[in-house]
Amino acid sequence: MASRERLYLFDTTLRDGAQTNGVDFTLADKLAIARLLDELGIDYVEGGYPGANPIDSDFFAERRPLRAKLTAFGMTRRPGRSASNDPGLVALLDAQADAICLVAKSWDYHVRVALETTEAENLASIRDSVRAARAKGREVLLDCEHFFDGYKAKPAFALACAKAAYDEGARWVVLCDTNGGTLPHEVERIVGEVCAKIPGDHVGVHAHNDTEQAVANSFAAVRAGARQIQGTLNGLGERCGNANLVSIIPTLKLKKEYADKFEIGVSDEALARLARVSHTLDELLNRAADRHAPYVGESAFATKAGIHASAIVKEPATYEHIAPERVGNKRKLLVSDQSGRSNVLAELERIGLAVDKDDPRVTRLLDEVKEREAIGYAYESADASFELLARRLLGKVPHYFDVEKFDVNVEQRISAKGIPLTVSQAVVKIKVGDEELISVAEGIGPVNALDLALRKDLGKYQSFITGLELTDYRVRILNGGTGAVTRVLIESSDETGDRWTTVGVSANIIDASFQALMDSIVYKLVKSGAPT
Ligand SMILES: [Zn+2]
Repeated sequence: MASRERLYLFDTTLRDGAQTNGVDFTLADKLAIARLLDELGIDYVEGGYPGANPIDSDFFAERRPLRAKLTAFGMTRRPGRSASNDPGLVALLDAQADAICLVAKSWDYHVRVALETTEAENLASIRDSVRAARAKGREVLLDCEHFFDGYKAKPAFALACAKAAYDEGARWVVLCDTNGGTLPHEVERIVGEVCAKIPGDHVGVHAHNDTEQAVANSFAAVRAGARQIQGTLNGLGERCGNANLVSIIPTLKLKKEYADKFEIGVSDEALARLARVSHTLDELLNRAADRHAPYVGESAFATKAGIHASAIVKEPATYEHIAPERVGNKRKLLVSDQSGRSNVLAELERIGLAVDKDDPRVTRLLDEVKEREAIGYAYESADASFELLARRLLGKVPHYFDVEKFDVNVEQRISAKGIPLTVSQAVVKIKVGDEELISVAEGIGPVNALDLALRKDLGKYQSFITGLELTDYRVRILNGGTGAVTRVLIESSDETGDRWTTVGVSANIIDASFQALMDSIVYKLVKSGAPT
């Protein structure tokens, strides 16, 4: 094979991704994410905008030891000022960073209306700023804001902005689709025209996802010659997000057209941790992972229909575009009322409960699943509850403890300041062997109080559940109206990073939640090998 060309990945989760609605990174979050990106093999980690807020300034106040090039973001000098007389630029140049990513206007309309200056002054600002950053010994990137819109409006000016930076010694000129409205065929044409004037190994692309094509636009740019892709983990970013590196990386590594041609900094071993990296970010953001995310989502390799499932077991490539293990994901055969024996058998094997395919208990398990799904249980979403059901039928769940009774109380009272205050309290009475344990807890709501009380004191089992955490709680009312039942799905995780989902169904939401909480605790005890 001919030697492959190097393609560079630039992550802006900590800068552009931090613009996401509802995302607020602490300094500790930022450092953790920077390490995560570094271990993944990203070439450039953009840490933020020093001077824009205290956290970003702190982030760049000291040297952060990374293999990746730590990059600080900021503006080119303001019109009518010299580079040394612009406090924003001076602060940026002092940031403890390997590289500096300067942003400049490249759309004549913005220069006129937003900047209220001339095209010549805009070009002078680019040259001066790049020169000043180079003089500080930094590698320089220029983000050409609104490049594609600017190029459509006035190609010569947009190109002149990019060229000014390149001629002044910027390592990279990054073409930004800032408003995210450019389409892949336009990106391919425009990047092709730019690469005729500036070598492609100095050209990058920064795409936003406003037409759901940020990933496609990034690849269009690479096809046209660009050799740096900017994006974020999980496509984080303002509005509809940035190009999703979690989708781009496996495509570059596993799809022949790109894998044969390009080399990236992400190793095969790091690729096999990709799903974990994606989920770790969601955990840091305290939000549920997207089940349907390409490559890394829980459903990315899930199959429901019976005939597909039996084919997949025989020959995975029949219904899978890549082997899920390559990206750290796993195949999932959904056990549901549509499924046949082959699903159940395959799922039992995956869990590690190998049974003979003619074992009558398999039929009993299938019947049980069908009966329970008919009244509202959803085992395809609740893998851990399915596993417990299967283990119980096969006689493999130890008897750990009994809940003798629980009591949940919700009380509203008026606080000393005259504000109504709702307090939930739960009391749980548990029997572990001969030992009776009573726990009381207050919570934000009744389910939270019950959860806290249940997990407060499990006697000799307590040490096995200290890492257990409830990460998501979803409630659905089935067949509404009178006689409606409630389905509760609870997602839990533990200190090893494993995640599992349990289900409870009842006419009473507390009771449904109790079932799901109990399954989660028992699952954790089984998983941890707690002795009876
Ligand atoms: Zn952006």
